[in-house]
Amino acid sequence: MRIVVKLGTSVLTGGTRRLQRAVMVELARQVQQLRADGHQVILVSSGAIAAGREQFSRRETGSAQANPPSHSAASPAHASSKSLESLIDKQVLAAVGQVHLMSVWQSLFEIHGILVAQLLLTRADLEHRERFLNARDALLGLLAADIVPIINENDAVATAEIKVGDNDNLSARVALLASADLLIMLTDQPGLMTADPTRDPTATLLTEIDTIDQRLQAIAGGSVSGLGTGGMATKLQAAQIARQSAVDVIIAGIRQADVLPALVAQRGLGTRIRAVGSRLESRKRWLLSGPPPQGRLELDEGACHALHDQKKSLLAAGITALSGDFQRGDAVRLVNPQGHPIGVGLVRYASDELQQISGRHSDDIPQLLGYSVGGVVVHRDELIVFA
Ligand code: GLU
Repeated sequence: MRIVVKLGTSVLTGGTRRLQRAVMVELARQVQQLRADGHQVILVSSGAIAAGREQFSRRETGSAQANPPSHSAASPAHASSKSLESLIDKQVLAAVGQVHLMSVWQSLFEIHGILVAQLLLTRADLEHRERFLNARDALLGLLAADIVPIINENDAVATAEIKVGDNDNLSARVALLASADLLIMLTDQPGLMTADPTRDPTATLLTEIDTIDQRLQAIAGGSVSGLGTGGMATKLQAAQIARQSAVDVIIAGIRQADVLPALVAQRGLGTRIRAVGSRLESRKRWLLSGPPPQGRLELDEGACHALHDQKKSLLAAGITALSGDFQRGDAVRLVNPQGHPIGVGLVRYASDELQQISGRHSDDIPQLLGYSVGGVVVHRDELIVFA
């Protein structure tokens, strides 16, 4: 399975003002366990701002000369950490903290011989088609190279207008970007409760949710977690996005021993929110209901056979002719040598690029174009072949 695990600030700091190494050591070990069981894991890790605070207060206590950056010119070197916080912009905290956060993750995963990589995204990366495809290529490339991608919002440069805003929603969009099977959002609660347990001791865990309705939103609306941006309300919002994209969602508590392997292996822990339809169905719905195909690719018999019977992707070599003016990521109609439509798919090259590479071997693409995004013109995951 391909699993996205979202780790919020409260989880990583254990509700304190510092990253809790013990928690992170344990999470890295559990991710290693999931990988050993054959799963691919993507982490969406918050904690950059918390890590930034930690770094600044360390410098404060470590050096009397420390002079924190600030938009105001005069910032006393002896500022207490409380006034420090009001001086230092979140962007600065995030820029400093992100390095620290990643260096901790890197050292912890290194123990297991696991390489990690950082991807910092903003809403624009996920909504603009070309950037979405680039981000997707990067993410899938990392997974193919057996690397654990660790993703956060690019808080240092993203302004409020281009931010997703909270990592719950970011994790749902990452799940969509990665075509994940499962999104696990870990939190300091055992899952979604019938009421806020800090106010109502009779609150119980909701184990399965089939529909996210107003009643649920009202229940979730009351709860906010201590340090992060999200609470149960943003988790439900995120769950809604993910399940509509055919991703199963679990909201579960970090306190459960061995929580990640346990969630994947068994039922009954956390709150499970089932995906709507299968991913294939949702992709089909999306492809078939989306804008009409912008172009037409004529394929030779070999390519038709590869697509139809062998469930393969379409390579440039199998294209005999094309028409239409389309961009990378547009839908195109695929037709056989007799001119009959055999499918619809999303192209990875624009029409002017395809003019140059159609009929040619994948190895020739870098030379023909001066670059290459790979030999595949339409990937089988982005393709519907008519029966
Ligand atoms: N991106 C923020 C951080 O790394 C966290 C956002 C959130 O808590 O949802 O500190």
